[in-house]
Amino acid sequence: MSGRVGDAGIRSSEMPLAGRRPRLARACARTGLLPLIARVRTALRHDVRILAYHRVLDAAEPDGFLFDPELISASSDAFRQQLAIVKRRFVPMRFDELIDCLDRGRPVPRRAVLITFDDGYDDNYRHAWPILRDAGLSAMFFVSTGHIDSGRPYAYDWLVHMLCTTRAASLQAPELGIDWALPDDLGARRDLAARLLDCIKALDAYAQQALIDRLQREWSLPPDAGHSDCRPMTWAQLRQMHASGMEVGSHGVDHRMLAKMPRAAMREEVAASKRTIERELGSEAQVISYPVGGADAYDDEVVAAVRDAGYRMACSYLAGPEALHPDARYAMRRIPVERHMDADWFEGMLALPEVFCHRSRTRGE
Ligand SMILES: [Zn+2]
Repeated sequence: MSGRVGDAGIRSSEMPLAGRRPRLARACARTGLLPLIARVRTALRHDVRILAYHRVLDAAEPDGFLFDPELISASSDAFRQQLAIVKRRFVPMRFDELIDCLDRGRPVPRRAVLITFDDGYDDNYRHAWPILRDAGLSAMFFVSTGHIDSGRPYAYDWLVHMLCTTRAASLQAPELGIDWALPDDLGARRDLAARLLDCIKALDAYAQQALIDRLQREWSLPPDAGHSDCRPMTWAQLRQMHASGMEVGSHGVDHRMLAKMPRAAMREEVAASKRTIERELGSEAQVISYPVGGADAYDDEVVAAVRDAGYRMACSYLAGPEALHPDARYAMRRIPVERHMDADWFEGMLALPEVFCHRSRTRGE
């Protein structure tokens, strides 16, 4: 799950554009301007676009969906359409190719696009992978290895689930100054869950887990039983995907915010997730994406730990195209894809990310 903090790269002066982006993209598409805009921009700016997905699910407006709907990046149809746009207008690229270009000082193709998934939900295997295969494209799947090992649901998403389903009348979290009555309406509960996810990320990683554990006990909603709508992939699935040309990277062990962990535990989290992927898949894990990924999710010490562990590149969840400055290699920006984007908006976002890149609403990555 990625953070609302992924918005960190967007200035407040850009906010009025947010509601206009889809309309502007449609107008540009209707007049045939988008390919022209893309060509002009490509001549002026040399950068890569790294798309960030979480889940591909067919419930685009999932009324009865009792997990975080903001983690649904696209329906299967929309994802298929998006890959067609990538193939038609841009240059799809893998991370190992990008790393090789940078290592050897070779030029990165203009209009390069890379595709990433965070967390490791099993819809990546069930829905996204077959569509990628059909399109002949590869993607990078950043997985939290502890969840792949255990099959446990992701903690932030389980927190949303608990808030959506508990029969408790109120939520008390004194460590956050929270004492909220819980409404009956699911939409209102989702709004509260979104607020809670924003609040909880101010705590250190263990205090976050302690709060979630306490609510699990008090509300008798242990995650052990799991839920079919919030299931991680298995290593067997990831081995199949990897054998077919997909890339697999780290998203930590337990999806903790690395900058909010004690330093020794953070370093172990970074190194252990790499070791586990390499043991399970038999090939090097070269890239990590920082869980949550915003400006408060990683710092210089986390970057040093990532370098020391042997990673060759790291992705943040800061929004925007990546200009490939030498110091950006361990904080690559990405372009979040969200379920409300239509094809015109998606194409506009790739053609001119400065204008059409959405201020991410995604939380809890
Ligand atoms: Zn995540």
